[in-house]
Amino acid sequence: MTELSELTDYIRMTRAPLIDCKNLSRSYRQGGSRSRWFSRNDTETLTVTALSNTDLQIERGEIVGCAGPSGSGKSTLLHLLAGLDTPTTGTVSFDGTDLSSLSDRARTRHRLDHVGIVFQHFHLLESLSARANVALPLVELGRPKGERRERATELLEAMGLGDRITHRPTQLSGGEQQRVAIARALVTEPDLVIADEPTGELDTETGKRVLKRFREVATELNTAVVIASHDEPTLAIADRLIRMRDGSIVGIEHLSQSDKAHQKNAVEDSSRVSPEDQ
Ligand code: ADP
Ligand code: MG
Repeated sequence: MTELSELTDYIRMTRAPLIDCKNLSRSYRQGGSRSRWFSRNDTETLTVTALSNTDLQIERGEIVGCAGPSGSGKSTLLHLLAGLDTPTTGTVSFDGTDLSSLSDRARTRHRLDHVGIVFQHFHLLESLSARANVALPLVELGRPKGERRERATELLEAMGLGDRITHRPTQLSGGEQQRVAIARALVTEPDLVIADEPTGELDTETGKRVLKRFREVATELNTAVVIASHDEPTLAIADRLIRMRDGSIVGIEHLSQSDKAHQKNAVEDSSRVSPEDQ
């Protein structure tokens, strides 16, 4: 076992990371317009630095947890990693490509090809069924209908939504909508999954089931998964936990093997249906 983990560490060290963030900052101008009533200095006080001078590398197959109080910059960081936003300064390299060097259109294509995103507020299309929502990225990728339906159905079943396939989002609970959004993020088998508070609407058991799926994807498909959460049990699934405060990473913890063994047991326990659930 030791030799195997040393070998895995060696391979990781000698391979370029999937994502390499250097000196990443993102500022927002708050309040918007520059009024004639404000002097130049007043205008500067309206700039909020959501993320400052951050370096971070993420490996394939790794689950990274992102913790921190509200407003600490978690969503800002996740949006930059996903290529939904571009940094004010610094770079996000994805497999050697600087995302800022891409046009908006090329970045949209990059996301479609490589990134699955679970938004905090789901962003499902109301007019489509759960299955059609999940299959949507495959439509954009031009995959055949049979494959789309099969993949979407399979994922919804894995999320425990086999009996909700033709429901529309308004007919689903918050937790069910969240699981549809997670299935949609996984349907293209992306290199990177970005999940912002992915278990916020889920009860403990369903949350564990979803986390188990993230672990499977990381292990079987070598997908990197980045999860922002307030929930310590959710964060315990991570291989590495970054703690954020005021737009900076203030700590990085490598979760130990015993923590992971504990987590693995917790996840496995959750996949067994207890008599009360039947
Ligand atoms: P978290 O996800 O940890 O709650 P965010 O990344 O959403 O934190 O926000 C970090 C800071 O940046 C907060 O002060 C927030 O108000 C600010 N912020 C985030 N997005 C915007 C925006 N689009 N415009 C202005 N300020 C923003
Ligand atoms: Mg947030």
